[in-house]
Amino acid sequence: MTAVPGAVDREALRARYRIERDKRIRPDGNDQYREPTGRFAHFLDDPYVERQERSPVRKEVTVAVIGGGFAGLATGAHLRQAGIDDLVLIEGGGDVGGAWYWNRYPGAMCDTAAMVYLPLLEETGHVPTMKYTFAPEIFAHAQRIAQHFDLYRGALLSTQVEKVTWDDGTARWIVVTNRGDEIRARFVTMGTGPLHRPKLPGIPGIETFAGECFHTSRWGYGITGGDPSGAPMVRLAGKRVGIIGTGATAVQCIPHLARDSGELFVFQRTPSSIDVRGNHAIDPTWFATLPPGWQREWLRNFCTLQTGGFADEDLVMDGWTDISQRIRDRVVALVDEGAPLGQETMRLAYEDSDDEKMCEIRARVRSVVEDPATAAALEPWYRQLCKRPCFHDEYLQAYNRPTCHLVDTDGRGVDLIDETGVWVAGTHYELDCLIFASGFEVGTDYARRAGFETVGRAGETLSEHWAEGMRSLHGIHVHGFPNAFIVGFAQGGNLVSNVTHNLVEAATTIAAVIGHAQAIGAVEVEATAEAEAAWIDLLQSSERGFLGNPDCTPGYYNNEGRVLGPKERLGMTGHPGGPLAYFDHIDRWRSGGTFDGVSFGRRD
Ligand code: NDP
Repeated sequence: MTAVPGAVDREALRARYRIERDKRIRPDGNDQYREPTGRFAHFLDDPYVERQERSPVRKEVTVAVIGGGFAGLATGAHLRQAGIDDLVLIEGGGDVGGAWYWNRYPGAMCDTAAMVYLPLLEETGHVPTMKYTFAPEIFAHAQRIAQHFDLYRGALLSTQVEKVTWDDGTARWIVVTNRGDEIRARFVTMGTGPLHRPKLPGIPGIETFAGECFHTSRWGYGITGGDPSGAPMVRLAGKRVGIIGTGATAVQCIPHLARDSGELFVFQRTPSSIDVRGNHAIDPTWFATLPPGWQREWLRNFCTLQTGGFADEDLVMDGWTDISQRIRDRVVALVDEGAPLGQETMRLAYEDSDDEKMCEIRARVRSVVEDPATAAALEPWYRQLCKRPCFHDEYLQAYNRPTCHLVDTDGRGVDLIDETGVWVAGTHYELDCLIFASGFEVGTDYARRAGFETVGRAGETLSEHWAEGMRSLHGIHVHGFPNAFIVGFAQGGNLVSNVTHNLVEAATTIAAVIGHAQAIGAVEVEATAEAEAAWIDLLQSSERGFLGNPDCTPGYYNNEGRVLGPKERLGMTGHPGGPLAYFDHIDRWRSGGTFDGVSFGRRD
């Protein structure tokens, strides 16, 4: 076991964490961000395909699968495996892939190991090239799933759903789109994505900037040159480029911008924690030796270790499992020393392990970044899981280039933007190009993020049903919305370190429920009000499932540092026993054949 950082003055560390957090707390919380409207409305356009006019489609299907990201793809794949031939996939982007269709910025990659992140590897036969794969390979894998499971057949791409309405008379969902389509579906699945609506910082004067600008989720290769594979962005040569934001996206694209820009100015409000990446190629010969069922085993292993459980070996071995393993080892050591196995010991173990980890992360910054003032500004002063942890082996190094300038705003953010550039603390930074790496909407209403309203039985909308917060059974079924299924992770496993694991579980469950309904000739499948209420009671019975800690530096993990109200808590919660407990529960539930809490109705 690694020793507890004896030299750490815990009180001083906590005090520093509080000072840094307080600098960043803003009264406007989530309202500090603005939507890309007005002159920024085109930030939501699809730059990758030409819009093709087509005739409206009117048809009847068994399942309408809304969303062509990994949620929809996994659902479609499992439905196909359950023998459902008659489905239509509807997607706003010009192709499948979801986040990996939209995010094509240079250096984009997944922070979760490909062996567990890429769904359906065994089924599609794909061998990931690297431990952590880059975005083009992930996008290609999404296309592979669509091809393998024949999901392109009849798919409506570049098509935004506008409304989904339950027609009680015919027991059908009517899905209306911006192309004038009207799809009547017995079942509808909604995998609309958690983080996909770009948001902009509400910096005064933002709309006055006269140079080139774009949001990272629609990278302007026409402005920069280069391509998603990381080819040189030749149009940035000699240009003064600014980037606002230093989250997971910025960390990945900044090394490329630093390489290709004449001068790069990185406007930082809070530094990310940058742990070691350690990427390497995957040996196909080794891969071929994996036994059937290996991916399920790897998924469980990663989930177990990442959430503090015990396993004989660490199959993935990365920064996500490392912190949990440290906590686990520390608990064992404390118990060996006579501490009782309980909440207080767990808390101590967590704090010790986190202090140790963050000391290492700060030391890494100092050892990599040559300029001491820049290094100091890049040191993160908060617990690792307060913000999305980042892993990179070229990000910190980028600041050693003489043309890469960190403009640290000491927690305040950019003060002002004008026609020619950005102001911070009285200094004006003249820019030719400004890139917003300012993230995506989190915690706004489901219908707003999905882009459509769902109208259930008796005309009740999902927004009305969730006016006081999300309510569901298992994060999937909603009372009053028969034959509709959510494909997500909230109120389910809520495993944020490997989102696709949640999606595959949801897809498997949905396919089992629809398959059962078909087998017994049920017309309506609906969570009972009692089952939904009991599930919400279970979720609220413990603090464990909630993300968010008010002591943390603000960010989207904790409602921007504001106290979580009941509504926010419901949207950020998972099973109180943790992700693995949920996955075990849902596996038993769908395999048991009785589907307790869901009624299967016939109409004779
Ligand atoms: P984030 O929301 O994580 O980051 C937004 C950045 O903008 C933050 O650094 C924020 O600062 C900064 N910012 C906001 N307003 C201002 C302002 N007024 N002045 C200066 N800076 C400002 O967005 P990302 O796109 O980086 O990441 C979103 C999520 O997408 C990630 O957390 C992750 O879940 C996912 N992602 C996953 C990847 C993967 O590997 N799988 C890769 C990339 C993204 P502050 O921190 O102070 O709020």
